[in-house]
Amino acid sequence: MPGAFTHDVPSQRVVFALGAVARIGDEVAHLKIERALVIATPGSGARLGARIVELIGKRAVGLHAEAVMHVPRAVAEGGVAAALQANADGLVAVGGGSAIGLAKAIARDTGLPIIAVPTTYSGSEGTPIWGQSEGDRKQTGRDWKVLPRTIVYDPDLTMKLPAAVSAASGMNAIAHCVEGIWVPERTPVSMALAMEALRRFGPHLPRVIADGSDAEARGECLIAAWLAGTVLTTGTGLHHKLAHALGGLGLPHAETHAIILPHVTRFNLATAPEANERLGDALKAKDPADALLAMVRSFPIPQRLRDVGLDEAKIPDVARQAAALGIKEPRPVTIEDATEILRRAY
Ligand code: NAD
Repeated sequence: MPGAFTHDVPSQRVVFALGAVARIGDEVAHLKIERALVIATPGSGARLGARIVELIGKRAVGLHAEAVMHVPRAVAEGGVAAALQANADGLVAVGGGSAIGLAKAIARDTGLPIIAVPTTYSGSEGTPIWGQSEGDRKQTGRDWKVLPRTIVYDPDLTMKLPAAVSAASGMNAIAHCVEGIWVPERTPVSMALAMEALRRFGPHLPRVIADGSDAEARGECLIAAWLAGTVLTTGTGLHHKLAHALGGLGLPHAETHAIILPHVTRFNLATAPEANERLGDALKAKDPADALLAMVRSFPIPQRLRDVGLDEAKIPDVARQAAALGIKEPRPVTIEDATEILRRAY
């Protein structure tokens, strides 16, 4: 007898095409937005943001390029103030999870609709999950208001995404899918999307890392990222809980996901033969944990938690936080289990 489920994922308008960014003005008009505030990260993100402002034309009221990872509270407040000051009636977030994360924080507090133009593979554009950080704790919540109404995917915008960011954000999305196979909230749809995303990432993410200008592989990875974000909406388990706690300590988000994923996968699959079979099928590997480790090893990203600045003395606290959540699927997690996973990743 299959397990019970509730599938509750609102649809989004998704536009995918090489050169799709040229249609951003039409998409803004489609949502009847008259005063769009463009949200981006500083630096190259701001240059892209300025281009989007230009493309939107009369319906744009400005650029707020202040996004940073994990949306510190002051950055969220600054974003809300900028939107109110500009009298914006919509947000266009261009960039990775950091830019989209700031737009979500603004949307949570103002109800403004978001159009996302993602340029990494982390998949935030597909979720109603917002995050905010304060001190060494990160808070997340779910609110349908923050789910972007429209996503515009243009592989052209990702051609210069550095190999390290491509690899880390891609592994972050792969983590959404791997975990999607075993979370208790899984549904036939979320599992099908997870499998399909893994099938696309498996061959194409390594191709992107080998040659960033491979437009076909870039496009496949963006599509996989969309599916992965939708999977993340369903639910999270041990992997995301550990990554969340480590993120609170200031560790880089996507890199941390990439480092711990093979170790959490090995632990969970030891007692989850069905998930093992599905992941093996999607990744075309006998041992999915090994396949994930091999992927991480072949990518130009940090390989161990010690390389991204984890203080070893914090491991027991992170393990305690994870064990206290009472995770049951695909297997219960004790403090000792979580400690062992973190030590291996360290
Ligand atoms: P990011 O947005 O932090 O971007 C990483 C770096 O790449 C930044 O310096 C950015 O300026 C640069 N960059 C982005 N696009 C580029 C491009 N096309 N060309 C050149 N440089 C580019 O990376 P990310 O991994 O996508 O996002 C991480 C954040 O997203 C974290 O805060 C994480 O918590 C959040 N996140 C949230 C969800 C969710 O559902 N809420 C899901 C995944 C990630």
